[in-house]
Amino acid sequence: MPPGESLAALPLHPDAARRGPPPRAGEEFAPLDALADFPAIPAGWAYLDTAATAQKPQPVIDAITRGYARDYATVHRGVYQRSADMTLAYEAARRRVAGFIGAQEDEIVFVRGATEGINLVAQCWAGTQLRAGDRILLSALEHHSNIVPWQMVAEANGLAIDVVPLTDDHRIDLDAMAAMLTPAHKLVALAHVSNVLGSVLDVAGAAALAHGVGAKLLVDGCQAVPRMTVDVAALGCDFYVFSGHKLYGPTGIGVLWGRADLLSAMPPYQGGGAMIDRVTFERTTYAPPPARFEAGTPHIVGVLGLHAAIDYVEGVGLERIHAHETALVQATRDALSAINSVTLFGPEDSAGIVSFAVKGVHPHDIGTILDESRVAIRAGHHCAQPLMVLLGVPATARASFGVYNSLDDVAALARGIERVTRIFG
Ligand code: PMP
Repeated sequence: MPPGESLAALPLHPDAARRGPPPRAGEEFAPLDALADFPAIPAGWAYLDTAATAQKPQPVIDAITRGYARDYATVHRGVYQRSADMTLAYEAARRRVAGFIGAQEDEIVFVRGATEGINLVAQCWAGTQLRAGDRILLSALEHHSNIVPWQMVAEANGLAIDVVPLTDDHRIDLDAMAAMLTPAHKLVALAHVSNVLGSVLDVAGAAALAHGVGAKLLVDGCQAVPRMTVDVAALGCDFYVFSGHKLYGPTGIGVLWGRADLLSAMPPYQGGGAMIDRVTFERTTYAPPPARFEAGTPHIVGVLGLHAAIDYVEGVGLERIHAHETALVQATRDALSAINSVTLFGPEDSAGIVSFAVKGVHPHDIGTILDESRVAIRAGHHCAQPLMVLLGVPATARASFGVYNSLDDVAALARGIERVTRIFG
């Protein structure tokens, strides 16, 4: 790298500028025209599984390639220029993430993904701050990664877990939550957007309710961050987690945001290099957050890829992405509800995700038949088994959208479902 050139200055994708402002209310549906940025999506393949993981745009692939092929070195340790540059790039990415979600950079902890972020809070906050008899409040639509870590810490510490029910249209029922909360509740952990139903949580409302009894609010933002603007300060929550790979970035990298005072009061998650202040055999002191929670050599290139992914989605514009996906969801709900044997789950205004069932057909069969028509959906319990019980189904079929999808994909899905109904009579 030429001297003086900083890795931190990753260029915006060249197409970003030409994309223009978001459509105004009432304006016609204008496709985002982003498909050409995604080399792994061949022509005619309707990729409708973005809620599982997003495909990667070329600028993210380029950032990862540059990270390994041109700029690679370790961070935080090297005395040579390349490593110093890589450290600057790594920390620039932390600033970028902080700006992206309205946080301070020392409140951004790089983790493997949302799962690790929630486990970290469960072990290091709930596991040290809560006492036997304290209660944790979850909702009926949570992903297993926002259930099991709390069960583990509850079992070890004598905590109890309560579950907020859903409204008839499958949103987290905040009225029921208000009625359930007591001063014994110390933590509420909820999904911002359901990975099964697409239901969007009123986070500010949930935060006000949680804070009203002195509880903290952790928000699982995995499905929100790729499809809507997120500002943790405005939302008023206490912890927020998300995964890079659902945001068009690499796997193996994610973010835990926590309020500075909460992070400062938490012990480390893992011990090792990079998280210490001073080590002797008698006593070790720890670095302040976020380094305290980042033991070992981090996923350096993953962090660069995440930076590029944030540049990419902001280049397209999250308001435009949200409007685009909302239009696709509406078209999907319209097309599928016209087919007699289809049941739709989730609210009308779900964000980017539509779960459905076809009468008499197992979702796995739906997925397999759609695959023959080059339509990729997800079929299964979506890591939300308690929600499947509540919906009264073993599994659902799920179509989820991203920047690269179009009305053609919706039409291919609808044609595929009609074929499913013909095959199963
Ligand atoms: N929460 C939600 C709502 C999710 O959709 C997912 C991924 N399916 C997770 C948590 C877990 O994310 P990861 O596997 O990337 O840690």
